[in-house]
Amino acid sequence: MKKPFVTLEQLKEITKTYPTPFHIYDEKGIRENARRLKDAFSWNKGFKEYFAVKATPNPFILNILKEEGCGVDCASLTELMMAEAVGFTGDEIMFSSNVTPAEEFVMARKLNATINLDDFTHIEYLEKVAGLPKIISCRYNPGGVFTTTNGIMDNPGDAKYGFTKEQMIEGFRILKEKGVEEFGIHSFLASNTISNEYYPTLAGILFKLAIELQEKTGVNIKFINLSGGIGVPYRPEEKPNDIMVIGEGVRKAYEEILLPAGMGDVAIYTELGRYMLAPYGHLVATAIHEKHIYKEYIGLDASAVNLMRPAMYGAYHHITVMGKEDAPHNCKYDITGSLCENNDKFAIDRMLPKIDIGDLLVIHDTGAHGFSMGYNYNGKLKSAELLLKEDKSVQMIRRAETPKDYFTTFDFTDFFKL
Ligand SMILES: *Cc1c(COP(=O)(O)O)cnc(C)c1O
Repeated sequence: MKKPFVTLEQLKEITKTYPTPFHIYDEKGIRENARRLKDAFSWNKGFKEYFAVKATPNPFILNILKEEGCGVDCASLTELMMAEAVGFTGDEIMFSSNVTPAEEFVMARKLNATINLDDFTHIEYLEKVAGLPKIISCRYNPGGVFTTTNGIMDNPGDAKYGFTKEQMIEGFRILKEKGVEEFGIHSFLASNTISNEYYPTLAGILFKLAIELQEKTGVNIKFINLSGGIGVPYRPEEKPNDIMVIGEGVRKAYEEILLPAGMGDVAIYTELGRYMLAPYGHLVATAIHEKHIYKEYIGLDASAVNLMRPAMYGAYHHITVMGKEDAPHNCKYDITGSLCENNDKFAIDRMLPKIDIGDLLVIHDTGAHGFSMGYNYNGKLKSAELLLKEDKSVQMIRRAETPKDYFTTFDFTDFFKL
């Protein structure tokens, strides 16, 4: 069973100050999980997690992760600006962008971030718009289909990212000639993997590539970035990943492949987003309508504006009707938001306890790619974000949008007196 990290009593207290809908994050859970990850890779001297900012772009969350020793992975100008605002600098920032505008490379260079190039042609582009740094990383795309011993995981051959093998070799050669001194290798081949095999398999591929690149180009490889992709069990029946097993699996590949090649000083980096935050966020909403037509509907005060994954990917998010955890789940509902868009459904044909108007619902695993994917369709406004602190007090870490925020891009006109 999935159990919320807040109780009904806590939520009743919180909603006196902060009306639903809101996202709430569990500081204790975030910190403990970050420490487990660090533990799992403690065998590697240079290990560092660069949290993927896009998953949960909130400076308070980034600050918690900073205190736990994490860096940040950015992919846009504003993500870089947020990293700077929180105090990340230099090698605490990985810039893993693609289709990168010149101004973003300029900003990344200004912050002395480690740039992870997505494409061969970006070598020339970066040199032209911002100059080449002393250390650089390149993103690898092996093409074809990516498989582990457990089966097929994804289809890199269809993905827009990265360099081909030949481009990696040629690119490293060119970069070395142009004075780059240290190199990184990055690859992201499968998303939301529920398997302890993903990282070790990916590591094996990248470690062999590192050896080949070193042999063919003579470069000094400083780090290998396994990027994101470790998943979380959104469904209650799914088995969670064991980060200790994953860390040991990568270690085994490291000792079998890199050590004998004399590359025992290569640092392992990760850029996890979902794994770091998803389980430690809830979207809390109130049931405000029920509707009985050809199906039974419960309408919430939240919508896809607050959580887009179900509408966008048909993603499953577990729902707890607070205070009714032990009641029989004998009602079949579609749980919907208010957008004029029929895919605005948090759940379809979900068996739940009988829901009454005013019931509080917790939508689970919204801590990553939740709030951040939100949009403003139908002029609906984004919610507040709250932090449940380790001492159980609650801090607002982002206020809810107001109509004024929505209309602010018309501030040059006379239509809205702001
Ligand atoms: C999205 C992304 C991540 C994080 O992915 P998760 O699935 O959240 O772990 C890491 N690196 C890059 C380059 C990404 O685009």
